[in-house]
Amino acid sequence: MQYDIIGFCSENYKDCYEFSIESWLATNARKIYMYTDGWSDDTRNGRIVFINITQKDTSWIKNVGKKLDCILDYWEQVDSIDNFCFLDVDNYITSDITEVFEINKTIGLTRIGIPGKTISAGNVFLKKCSISKKFLTDWKVLHEEYRLNQDWPEDHWDVAYDQISIHNLTIQDLEGPNEYQITSFDGNVYNCEEMHDGAWKDKIKTFKAKILHFKAHKWKNDSLVKEIKSIVSTYANVINVIIAIDDIHPEQGWGLKDDKCMEYLDKLNKEFGAKFTLFIPSNYHGKYPISKYQSWIGWLRTIEYFELAAHGHYHDCRSVGPGECEMMEHDYMSACTRISDCLDEWDKVGIKPKGWRMPGWLGTQGAFDAVANYFEYVAIHDNHNDNISFKDDIKVIRGHDGIHETDISLHDDRLMFQSHIAGDWNNNIWNEKNYKQLKFSLQHLLKNYNLVFKTMDEV
Ligand SMILES: [Zn+2]
Repeated sequence: MQYDIIGFCSENYKDCYEFSIESWLATNARKIYMYTDGWSDDTRNGRIVFINITQKDTSWIKNVGKKLDCILDYWEQVDSIDNFCFLDVDNYITSDITEVFEINKTIGLTRIGIPGKTISAGNVFLKKCSISKKFLTDWKVLHEEYRLNQDWPEDHWDVAYDQISIHNLTIQDLEGPNEYQITSFDGNVYNCEEMHDGAWKDKIKTFKAKILHFKAHKWKNDSLVKEIKSIVSTYANVINVIIAIDDIHPEQGWGLKDDKCMEYLDKLNKEFGAKFTLFIPSNYHGKYPISKYQSWIGWLRTIEYFELAAHGHYHDCRSVGPGECEMMEHDYMSACTRISDCLDEWDKVGIKPKGWRMPGWLGTQGAFDAVANYFEYVAIHDNHNDNISFKDDIKVIRGHDGIHETDISLHDDRLMFQSHIAGDWNNNIWNEKNYKQLKFSLQHLLKNYNLVFKTMDEV
């Protein structure tokens, strides 16, 4: 079940964004749409989209009124998926929240029916459909009514027109027609807040809270943040999962658009939010130079759950070396030349891959040294590469559990599933049996862990 997270953050709240954004990125959200009043942050990865729709305001009372415009703008602009939520930027997410979108059919809200509290306008879960659109339209009408009917002082700070309007709209509907079919989510879990710090910590622990609301600038309290993160670590059980696929190239059965194997990847993305790092030889066996297959590689790069990484140039040996281990027949100098040939191909398709894996997983020490000159990370096998020493300036990512295996182990606190796209000689290829086994493994792991899927360039 795919979902996006959207939020609004004015420039004067940017330190709050700095505090919470890592936790948003650590979910399986497809993308994060951050609405701002002009600023953006270029240092972050491509999962965050910055949209500026408003003028700069430092007044809190003006800024809280902007969330509904952000929601409506997102609705208009993004039609690729149906599920999203709006979160106030002081919401810190401790675990993935996919299950919310599996339950919610229209609008999901927190803090419904709590005496003396208003329903939250800062945690709104939506599934795109005509009913939820009607809800937003009706909310907007009431929102404007409350905004204009009362004089809101510049320094007002507390429940405001955004919240009163969503509250009254919801309560009237629940007591009467129930036309919006609103789902009530437990605020202790999905909007966990408390004025008193001690009571809040107890609540987080008791309910294993998934969304923590650091209201009233509580994110600025370093010691409180530290204590809360330590509480969260006792229950969150977050494990990063990487799925790597070798040997993709533009040949029937090896990664073309209509190939069955690619369908399995799409299913796993839809079912679990799975992502994949594709290791692509730049001219497989001298027959498939990627520059001659622009539309194929162009298609791959439009798919957000793929990272495209390098996997040798020819993949096979060209003179004396062993079979499919291209980099076993190179010393440092000739490896540099071959990697340059490879990167020329990538350059022609406008991609600069960040990662590399040796074809056949083997290479000489000289070849590994050469790789460190060109790439940010190298993916390796724990055992096959234990004779190699790695330079400090390249990140080394280990792990090799096959997608078909049932005995899986952690590598550097993460799970690494390894596979080949095809090939009769491999056990871990993308056929129906292995797709089902991996699906089963993931379902099993989800009973005990919070799985967060990453591509290798994201770890
Ligand atoms: Zn390979």
